Formats: sequence, structure tokens, C-alpha cells
Amino acid sequence: MTRTILFLMSDTGGGHRAACEAIAEAVHHLYPGQFRTIIEDIWTHRTPWPINRLPKTYPWLTGPGLPVWKAMWACSSRLPLHRLVPPLLAPLLANRMVAFLAQVRPDVVVSAHPLMNHLTIRWLRRAGMTCPLVTVITDMVAVHPLWVCPDVSLCLTPTDEARQTALHYGLPPDRVVVCGQPVRLGFSRPAADRETLRQRLGFQAGKPLVLLVGGGEGFGPLDKIARGLNRCTGIQMAVVCGRNQALKARLDAARWDIPVRIFGFVHNMPELMTAADLLVTKAGPGMLAEAFIAGTPVLIYGFIPGQETDNVHYVLRHRAGLYVDTPEAIAAQVQALFRPGNPTLAEMAGNAARLARPNASLEIARQICALAPPVPAEGDDVLRRLQRGMRSRLRSFARRVAVR
Ligand code: UDP
Repeated sequence: MTRTILFLMSDTGGGHRAACEAIAEAVHHLYPGQFRTIIEDIWTHRTPWPINRLPKTYPWLTGPGLPVWKAMWACSSRLPLHRLVPPLLAPLLANRMVAFLAQVRPDVVVSAHPLMNHLTIRWLRRAGMTCPLVTVITDMVAVHPLWVCPDVSLCLTPTDEARQTALHYGLPPDRVVVCGQPVRLGFSRPAADRETLRQRLGFQAGKPLVLLVGGGEGFGPLDKIARGLNRCTGIQMAVVCGRNQALKARLDAARWDIPVRIFGFVHNMPELMTAADLLVTKAGPGMLAEAFIAGTPVLIYGFIPGQETDNVHYVLRHRAGLYVDTPEAIAAQVQALFRPGNPTLAEMAGNAARLARPNASLEIARQICALAPPVPAEGDDVLRRLQRGMRSRLRSFARRVAVR
């Protein structure tokens, strides 16, 4: 009998889904055939209009609307305003969520989004379910208070800094474990070495490859940075635009003096990252953790204020990368890094490797699966199904009575 792990996330950026996919991959790797994993963007698929449109505002909020995002994050994390969110939203969405939970019947629920902790606890209670809820915090250092719900069974954090914040917001120490950032297994088990992968992916042999990525949404002035890098000599470049189709169209139409390949949303980031000599990126926790594991040095060009500001300090403090924020300075820095005899790239790669937690997904998967109920013996299984059927009939009877 398989048990069900339900992951709740939202497609805001690429990190929440990537984290859930990495954990699900690790679950199936460790316990083949024992678990069913479901990854659900409940905001988009399970809430009514206009709430279901909110995730679509994220690219605007982290693009032209960045000052609005900065103000929202600062106010909601410092003032107790965030405490209003669960009691306001939970009843509004309860009927649909309870119906969804009853349909999935999870054995464990995993929240990989700050808005799904306090709310999910309420919905589980309302559905009469007692299954464990595990929070997997996907922000590397700065943790918004909405991530932290003292009623969850377990909270897994990427760094010790994040753990300290979780404790500060009231989680009991025995329920917070540092496991690392969940990252797909392909980053720690590359399909081939750097040069072979480069050729397999169609890049030129023997020429340094710079990989430019702005997270899942193509954040920041990627077109200006790419045009700046176009003036460097002796390099080739891959630009990943993520879901930013307008950016991809602009870059596709541009003329290039160096070998350049432009991608939309890619599904082979482990290969691209391993093939690259340098990652030029925003300070997204997913991309940084992946680069640490792949041994690819990073040059950070920007960050989303709030959840990513401290990531820059974290990387600089550990000398695992550099931060340069104008297209001209980025091009000059890249040129300098590839100058023969410059040891900086190798030093940064070494320091980054010390931050890498290649087994994070496996560790997280073990923690989550340990909370799932044991597989029942054959007779128990029939009994359990009968009990579930009885419970659900009783609940729907109680609801009908309550409506009358
Ligand atoms: N990603 C991907 N394909 C793309 C762009 C990004 O798979 O075309 C993945 C990337 O490997 C990483 C995540 O999306 O796992 C980005 O997460 P991060 O936390 O760095 O930034 P976010 O997009 O969440 O702001």
C-alpha cells in the first residue's frame, strides 16, 4: 500500500516547485513504490477568483513593482500585520480546501510556501485530519514570520541562520532541524564531466561558458547584462530567461559577437550548471544552493529585497562568490575572472563547495517519510479503509446538519 505525501506550494518564482520536485525525487529514490507524491499550487488551482490570480502578480512585483514588494515584505515581517492573514483567509477558502484534502487523503502534508503553514493547520483541523504537517523553509537566511507556525510537526531549514529565526518566532527547538536547501539529485550526481556535458549540450569545446540566469521568472536587467557580457572576449554564454517570454524574444532578436544560446524555461538545469564555468545569477536560494553543489562559482547581480537580501551577505561572508550590480562592472569582473592565472574562480568554487549540502533532499525526504504512518498489515488495511469511510460519512452528515 502506498502512502500519500501532499506538497503545497505556489509557482511564484521557480524555487518553491523546484524544492518540492527535489524532495519528491528523493522520496521515490529512497523508498521506491512506497509513496505517492502530489505537488499542488493551491493558490492557482484551488482558490476562487480573484485570489487565484495573485501568483500571476509575482513577476510584476519582483520586476517593475519591486518597491511595492520591498514595502510589503518590510511591513508584513516587522509589524504584526501578518497575524491577520490566517484568520482572514482560512474561513474564506476552507470549503474548497477541506474538499481537496478529503479527496487526496494525505498521510503527510508538506508546506513549501510561507502562506501555507498557519492556513493548512486550520484546514486540516476543519477536515478532521490529524496527519503531520511539515514546513520546508525555502528561504536561505531571512525567514518571513509567516513561514513559522508553532503547531507544525516539524520545520526543516536550509541554514543555521534560518533555524535561529524560526526559534525566535516561537518554534520549539526539538521541532526545527537544519537539513539544507532541497536540490535535485542531478546536481550532486552529474551525468558527465564539465567538458563532456558542454559538448553534449552543443557548446564550443575549450571556451569558458558563462551561464546567466534570473531565477524562474527571469528577474532583473538580464538583457543589459547579456549585452555587456557580449563585449567580453574569449567566452561563450548561455542565457536562461525562465518564464520571461518577453525577455527571450528581445534576446532572440539581438545580434551577438560571442557564441550565445538563449533558452526559455529549462528542465536540464543540473546539466547546464555543471557545464558552466561561472554562474551569473540573482541571489535566489535555489540557484545558489545548486551552484554550491555543482561546484560552479557565482557572481550575484541582484536580489529580491526581503527574502534574498541576506543571501548576498551570506555568500560574501563565506567568500563563495562576488556581488556586482551594474552591467558594465559585471562585464569587467567576468573578463578579469577569466584572465589566465587569476586564482579567484577556483578559490570561490572551493569555498562554495564547503557550503554545499548535496544530501539535503535525501535528508529532508527521510525526515518527512519517518512521520508517515507505517504500512498497515493486510487485515489492518481493510479496517483502515472502513474507518476512513465511516469517518467521512459522519463528517458529511455533520456538515449537512450544520447547514440546516
Ligand atoms: N529553474 C529551472 N528552470 C529555469 C529557471 C529556473 O528549473 O528555466 C529553477 C532553478 O534550477 C532553481 C529555481 O528554478 O531551482 C529558481 O529558484 P531560486 O530560489 O533561485 O529563485 P526563484 O525563481 O524562486 O526566485
